[in-house]
Amino acid sequence: MKQEAGSSLKAVFLGMAGGLTAAAIMGAFAILVPLPGSGGVPFFVLATEQMGLGSSSFFAGWILHFGTGAAIGAIFGLTFNTFRRLRSSTVGHSVRMGIVAGVVVGRFLREEGLPMCEICGATFTSRQLLKDHSQAVHLGKRVQGISAP
Ligand SMILES: [Zn+2]
Repeated sequence: MKQEAGSSLKAVFLGMAGGLTAAAIMGAFAILVPLPGSGGVPFFVLATEQMGLGSSSFFAGWILHFGTGAAIGAIFGLTFNTFRRLRSSTVGHSVRMGIVAGVVVGRFLREEGLPMCEICGATFTSRQLLKDHSQAVHLGKRVQGISAP
């Protein structure tokens, strides 16, 4: 069974398909279960708003979101194809692995970009909301790493 070159390319495309599917799932989740205080704006749009993209931030956010999903999926597909033991044998399996990778990495990226409560782990769309949260929920206990203004 010599089909190495072709299968690498196939793995990249299948991984991308999984990554895009994961991005769509994450996008739907972000809209259905918005972050506290975000006003229903998906987290990746909040990220582009913070980059100062203004009125184009909604569109740019989705492009960034799907672009990240496709890139993660492609890398993941290639990585899994390289390690024979983990090698995906079917199209369905490859796409499923891509979805898992996309959701896991997407979740990490989401939490990386936002202020997080170090006591309970909740993420917020602004430092002010985090401060309000720590005062209301944790009785004004200082959250490590967040300095008073
Ligand atoms: Zn908290």
